[in-house]
Amino acid sequence: MRRIKCLPASPGIAIGKAFLISLKDFSFSLKEKGEEAIFLLEKGKNILRENLQLDSEKVGKKEEGDIFLSHILLLEDPEIWGKVKEKIEEGKSLGEALNEVEDEVVSLFESLNDERFRSRADDIKDIMRRVKEAMIGNELFIPEGSIIISEEILPSHIVELEKWKPKGFISAAGSPFSHSAILARAKGIPMLTSCQGITEIVGNDETLILDGEKAEAIIEPSNRLQKIYLEKEALRRKEEKEAIAQRHLPAITIDGKRIMVYANVGSTKEIEEAKEMGADGIGIFRTEFLLFQGEDALRKESHLKVYRMAGEILYPQPVHIRLFDIGADKPFQFLNLPDELNPALGLRGIRLLLKKRELLYPQLEAIKEAHKEYPNISIILPMVSFPEEVKEIKEMVGEIPVGIMVETPACALSLSKMAKFCDFFSIGTNDLLQYTLAVDRAGKDVSELYNPAHPSLWRLMKITIREAKRYGKEIGVCGEIAGEREFIPRLIKMGVEHLSVSPRFVPIVKKIIRSLNPSDAKG
Ligand code: PEP
Ligand code: MG
Repeated sequence: MRRIKCLPASPGIAIGKAFLISLKDFSFSLKEKGEEAIFLLEKGKNILRENLQLDSEKVGKKEEGDIFLSHILLLEDPEIWGKVKEKIEEGKSLGEALNEVEDEVVSLFESLNDERFRSRADDIKDIMRRVKEAMIGNELFIPEGSIIISEEILPSHIVELEKWKPKGFISAAGSPFSHSAILARAKGIPMLTSCQGITEIVGNDETLILDGEKAEAIIEPSNRLQKIYLEKEALRRKEEKEAIAQRHLPAITIDGKRIMVYANVGSTKEIEEAKEMGADGIGIFRTEFLLFQGEDALRKESHLKVYRMAGEILYPQPVHIRLFDIGADKPFQFLNLPDELNPALGLRGIRLLLKKRELLYPQLEAIKEAHKEYPNISIILPMVSFPEEVKEIKEMVGEIPVGIMVETPACALSLSKMAKFCDFFSIGTNDLLQYTLAVDRAGKDVSELYNPAHPSLWRLMKITIREAKRYGKEIGVCGEIAGEREFIPRLIKMGVEHLSVSPRFVPIVKKIIRSLNPSDAKG
C-alpha cells in the first residue's frame, strides 16, 4: 500500500482499477507537406469544429458548454493557425508545424505566473491533439469504471472518455483551476491533480483509492481500507443530497446561533451559482477576471455592468466586491508592473492600487454608481497591512461599507487601529497562513509545510476575532479552511459570524453548521 499526496480538483471518492493513458498514445506522424498539408489541416479543423459543437451541446450546462465554445474560438484564432501555415510554407511537414506552434503557444501561457492562465495551456494542447486525431482517426478502449491516470488530463478527455464511465481522473501535472477540473466537478467525477510521479508508480490494472477529500491516491489498498472507503463514500453522497435539498434554509446552530454562509466567487457565472446554491450573500467577489479583457478593465463601464448584475441577483443580500488583488500569485503581464525579487512582499493588492490609481479609480467609480442602485454592494480590501491604506479608501467612498481582508499578521495584530476606518473584517486564511508561516501558498516544494492547523494561524485568528468583536464589527473567514469540515466547529466556537466558501460547498457547510452545538466544540 502506498499513498501519494496530490491537489484536490473534484471532490468524492473512487475505488477502481488504474488505466493509464498517455498523450503519446496518439502518435501522429502527419508527414504531408505543402498544399496537401494545408488541405488536410482544413479538413481536420472542420471535423473538429463539428465535434466541439457536439461536445458543447452534450455537456449542456452553460459554463461547461462554453469551455468547448472557447475551444472553437481557439480553432478560429488567426494567429495560431496563421503560424502553422507559415511553417508549412517554410517547408515543414504538417506534424512538425503543429508541434512547433503548440510548443510556442504552450510555453507562452506557461510562462505566465498565474495558475489560471497557465492552465489555459491545456486548452491549446487539447485542440492540437484533437485536430491531429481528426485528421488521422484514433480511438482508445478503456475498461468501464476505471480510474484514468495520465501525465495530463485535458478537457476533451473528460467528455470523450465519459462513455467508458470512469470512476475518477488523476493527473501527474495540472491544476485545480484547469478547465478539466471544472468539467470533472460539473460531472461529479472525482479528480486529483499534481500527483507527482503517479504515472511511474502505478501500473495498469492496479487497484486504487482516489480520495478527493484528503487529496491523496492510495495504491493497492487493503480490503479493509477499501470497505471503509466504500462506506464513507455512500455516507458522503447521502449527506450531500440532504444538504442540497435544504440549501435555502438558514444555517443555525443547535444552540440557536445564525451563521451567514457566503460564497466566494470569481465570475458572473459563479454569482448565479452562489444564489442557486443557497448562499446568504457574496463574501468575496474576486474581480481579477475582468483583467482578462486587457485595457477594457480600466474602463468604469466594464465594471459597472458586472457589479449591477451581482447586486441585482443577490439583492438584498450582501455582495462584497473585492478591489483588484493584483501581484504575487495573480500577476497580469499587460499592466507592465515592475519585476520584483519578492513579489508576495512587494506591490500587491491595496498597495498596488494606491500607487497605480488608474487601476483603482474605474473600479471605485463603478462600485459607487452600482451602490446607489443596489445598496447591498460593499467593498472589501485585499492585502492590507497599514491603517492608512484603509483610511484612504474610506475617505474616497464615503457611506459605502468597507471591509478588510485580514491577510497579513500586521493587519491581524493592529485591528484596533483599522477598526475605525472599516465596517467588517474577513480573515483570508490562504494568505494569512502564507505570511504567518513564511511558506509560499503555491510553492510545490514547501506544500507540506503549508499547514492550516498550525497553532500560530489560530492564535492570530483568536486575536483578530476578539478585537473585531471589541469594536463591534462583523468578523468572518473567507479562506479555504472556511469550507473544511475539520475546522468549521472550531471557527464557530471562536465566534466567527460568517464563513465564505466556494458556491458548491455552501449547502454542505450550512448542513454542518446546523449540526453544531458550539459550546461542545474544541475552542
Ligand atoms: C485568502 O487569501 O484567504 C483569500 C480568500 O484570497 P485569495 O485566495 O483570493 O488570495
Ligand atoms: Mg488572499
